[in-house]
Amino acid sequence: MDYSELVKSYKKLESTQSTLEKTEIISKLFINSPKEDLDTLAHLIRGKAFSEWKNLDLGIGKKLIIKAISKATGIKEEKVKKEWKNKGDLGDAVEVIVKNKKQQTLTTKKLTLSLVQENLEKIAGAEGSGSQSKKISLIAELIGSAEPEEAKYIVRTVLENLRIGVGEGLVRDAIVKAFFSELIGLSELDGYEITGQQVGIDKQLLGSISEYRLNKVKEKTELIEIDLSDDGISKLWKKEGADVFITDRKKEIEDRLKGIVQHAYDVSTDFGEVAEVASKKGVQGLREMDIELFRPIRVMLAQKSDSMEDAFEAVGSEEGLAALEYKYDGIRVQIHKEGSDVKIFTRRLEEITDQFPEIVNAIKDSIDEEEVIVEGELVGFDPQKGYLPFQKLSKRIKRKYNIREMIEKIPVTVYLFDLIYCNGNSLIRQNLRIRWSKLNSLINKIDNSVELASHLETSDLDKAQSFYQKALDENQEGIMLKNLSKRYKPGSRVGYMVKLKPVMETLDLAIIGAEWGEGRRRDWLGSYKLACMNKETGELKSIGKMATGFTDEQLEELTNKLEDMIIQEDGRSVKLKPKVIVEVAYEEIQESPKYESGYALRFPRLVAERETLGTGDVDTLDRIRELYGKQS
Ligand code: ATP
Repeated sequence: MDYSELVKSYKKLESTQSTLEKTEIISKLFINSPKEDLDTLAHLIRGKAFSEWKNLDLGIGKKLIIKAISKATGIKEEKVKKEWKNKGDLGDAVEVIVKNKKQQTLTTKKLTLSLVQENLEKIAGAEGSGSQSKKISLIAELIGSAEPEEAKYIVRTVLENLRIGVGEGLVRDAIVKAFFSELIGLSELDGYEITGQQVGIDKQLLGSISEYRLNKVKEKTELIEIDLSDDGISKLWKKEGADVFITDRKKEIEDRLKGIVQHAYDVSTDFGEVAEVASKKGVQGLREMDIELFRPIRVMLAQKSDSMEDAFEAVGSEEGLAALEYKYDGIRVQIHKEGSDVKIFTRRLEEITDQFPEIVNAIKDSIDEEEVIVEGELVGFDPQKGYLPFQKLSKRIKRKYNIREMIEKIPVTVYLFDLIYCNGNSLIRQNLRIRWSKLNSLINKIDNSVELASHLETSDLDKAQSFYQKALDENQEGIMLKNLSKRYKPGSRVGYMVKLKPVMETLDLAIIGAEWGEGRRRDWLGSYKLACMNKETGELKSIGKMATGFTDEQLEELTNKLEDMIIQEDGRSVKLKPKVIVEVAYEEIQESPKYESGYALRFPRLVAERETLGTGDVDTLDRIRELYGKQS
């Protein structure tokens, strides 16, 4: 497929806010895509170069892009920077530069999706000496083959800042629409709308409605059966190429199909693969997709509870029974084991196996089962000194050499709390009771760097309170409360797992902009613009500025990190790639027309940088609304 086709869709997506229209645009793109491009398309449409589980990083900053633009067009870097300042956006700037250039030269070869993908892969793979200039040449090659508008989106994609408002849910719905709309059926048959109301039958009597319609269109229909869920069979009637169903069931079938696509994505973390399977193998193919060892899945997240009573209300299953566990303060890890191969992944799906060889060995010693995926919290724990602060632990993640020395300096323990996969079987559809008891049965308690999380099952509030107190006395962050009868939902923040902590609610927000300081602080970026996540569109929305509460050391550290993420400069202000996530405390949430979220934080201050989080973990606008509601 020509890249220009995708660009047409980007423009349409950019110009509408309607989720229905957006779904329609993306699904058309999927339908018209040659099969071999579907995989690439499913990533690029979300502004991602690769599927998430591969965890490939382009590692491109604005400096490299400027060099690449200069190389591709022969325009001096200084001029590129000037145009950038002028336009305020590097994508817009490159569009103008390429436009001017095109008037003087003949168009070169056509840009295709496969060329874009090929070069993105080479960029991510470039390592070692000479890798920078290799990356520049690869981007320059793309810009050199691009029409002005294409160049704009290439630059935005490479900067991971596409800004067209396409989130996960939209891609899922578009896959359903593109490949399964005939299963959802038409609401019209020969111009005659078949709804419950029109045939005058009570909606309760769906079965009868089905029979009724079947009788009416019998001669020309062919009955097909599709097993859409674990709990039943949906019948669809095909008539002269068009599938027909009773309108009352349309929503139900559509929702089930969305559930099937979502599940396929949950187990694969790869929309490219999901789209391909949907188009080639249909519903059945998607249902057969499953977790694969060494391909990390996104973790299930918790909600916050304000009191023990609320927590029990949220997670209590039969007779109010709930599972309580210590909330350890460390790094969430997902550990995959196949025989003697073990890999450790973070919740951002990054692999950190090499940094923790002692955990690899401990897992091999503690688990005899051939194939497992377990989840737990990796905590810095020194038998002499007790729990180590998170900052120490994060040093171990960054350290790629002299690992032996680190093992002694910063010893770790992993507290396991979930079992996701065991010997060929995914357990995510099983309830926690089954997952936890199975996890218990497969841990040999011989190595103390692998432990089971402290766990109590009770419906008794007093017992729960003392467990909570015990966790705090032992310097844990708080406790988690979990519903024992619920499944594991990858990538979701579910209401049936909640955390209870004594501290005031903080927010995890992305830094999306900043300002150069003045006087003594002129070389440092400060006054950080914060943003929360609009989950529907996948867009970050500003929610205020954080200007106080930093030590000089913190400012310097943050500046060093953020400097590489500048995507636009305007006088003293800079726009940043949203890569740095911070935990922010505040006095109050206020309504404010000044920021895109419609809210502002009063007296926001930095608690800590959340190095293990990505943009997907940023607190949502819904959560802000909820907190705001609670305040008043
Ligand atoms: P927080 O900032 O409170 O750590 P978070 O956004 O990192 O929250 P949540 O899902 O909201 O993640 O809170 C649960 C987190 O607590 C998990 O991601 C995990 O890293 C950690 N954790 C520690 N102990 C447990 C446990 N026993 N069960 C589940 N999660 C645990």
